[in-house]
Amino acid sequence: MSRLVMKFGGTSVADLERIRRVARLVQAEVAAGHKVAVVVSAMAGKTNELVAWTDGSGASAPGLTPSDDEYDVVVASGEQVTAGLLAMALRNAGTPARSWMGWQIPIIADDAHGRARIDDVEPDRLIAAMDAGQVAVIAGFQGVTRDGRIATLGRGGSDTSAVAIAAAVKAIRCDIYTDVDGVYTTDPRIESKARKLNKISYEEMLEMASLGAKVLQTRSVELAMAQNVPLRVLSSFVEPGEAPSLDGSGQGTIVCDEDEIMEKRIVSGVAYSRDEAKISLFGLPDHPGVSSIIFGALADANVNVDMIVQSHARTADTANMEFTVGKRDAARAVDIVRAAQTSIGFDDVAVNDEVSKVSVIGVGMRSHTGVAKTMFAALAEKGVNIQVISTSEIKISVLIDAAYTELAVRALHAAYGLDQL
Ligand code: ADP
Ligand code: ASP
Ligand code: MG
Repeated sequence: MSRLVMKFGGTSVADLERIRRVARLVQAEVAAGHKVAVVVSAMAGKTNELVAWTDGSGASAPGLTPSDDEYDVVVASGEQVTAGLLAMALRNAGTPARSWMGWQIPIIADDAHGRARIDDVEPDRLIAAMDAGQVAVIAGFQGVTRDGRIATLGRGGSDTSAVAIAAAVKAIRCDIYTDVDGVYTTDPRIESKARKLNKISYEEMLEMASLGAKVLQTRSVELAMAQNVPLRVLSSFVEPGEAPSLDGSGQGTIVCDEDEIMEKRIVSGVAYSRDEAKISLFGLPDHPGVSSIIFGALADANVNVDMIVQSHARTADTANMEFTVGKRDAARAVDIVRAAQTSIGFDDVAVNDEVSKVSVIGVGMRSHTGVAKTMFAALAEKGVNIQVISTSEIKISVLIDAAYTELAVRALHAAYGLDQL
């Protein structure tokens, strides 16, 4: 008998009625002969509320001084509630079930609190329970460090919990149930003409996720690709009878190897991220070692840098440089760069966080020319100015004024004919 992992996101477990529907979907898989582990997120909005308590914005009194390890204790609690409730709902409906916290399995994580990575899953007890016919209801988003502390896996981390469990119990598939019925050509919330993809390659999904499509956490795709876990994204807003067929031909999107996809598209999707800030440095000395000092200092402070461009300035022997970081890190990045100003010797630094990154993704770019031309023409036609461009083998990203995000996404979606798939 095969093991199956089912994951339900926040909107899918937002209240007791939805939790009962999740229980029915789980029961249908049990009835179909699967040994099931279910991974749940906190109820919709809960994690944001808990995060706000840790930074003072949710309190009426002055905020507390944040500490990363206790942040994790607070924000991991939302998943404990839904795991317990779903286990109860299953038992009420006559299906043996029990809840599992990350530390009980255990899911071993590193100690990068707030954005920990899973090092290992010890699945023996979980497998024994599943194989004995008990549904394992697992609190997503959390693990335990080697010294016994709770660690959370970054926002959206329940997807990664689910894939890690699927790999550890050798599940035939990991089904990610969410509030949309699959992976679309772009976020259906901002382009109503977005089309559902029946299949997408791990590689494209990885780019889509890391470039802003939050339907799957980036690490979950990375892990699924590395461990060869077949992934499916599908809607939880269905009753069991309407659920996809088990042969994979039903609804939802399958994330799989590129060579399993017959229809080849040049561009598969458009993603966007508003989580960007651009930092500009003017009048840098144009000699070896400057970039090494700047990006070395940023790396030492754990600031992730994304796009980087450097160009000659008008004055001889000087250069200008622009790079992007996550919005959250912008102020810190400016402080770090300023601290190095005297040792490097540059004129000025500016930060702009009213920017967004819009990207087109597709494996077909490897073998087709003209993809960039179409992108730039579509943006030009809408009067959208491009501030920074970056490319990789299967994606092109542009940094633009944040006010034009939706306009740009829709223009690109149409330019590549994605509304006609
Ligand atoms: P969950 O709570 O189930 O984990 P998320 O909110 O994390 O759900 O992810 C689902 C959301 O991802 C959708 O509601 C949708 O707005 C957004 N999304 C962004 N890009 C895409 C895309 N290309 N395809 C599908 N959904 C997308
Ligand atoms: N509840 C966590 C979050 O909101 C984890 C998840 O939903 O995947 O980020
Ligand atoms: Mg999510």
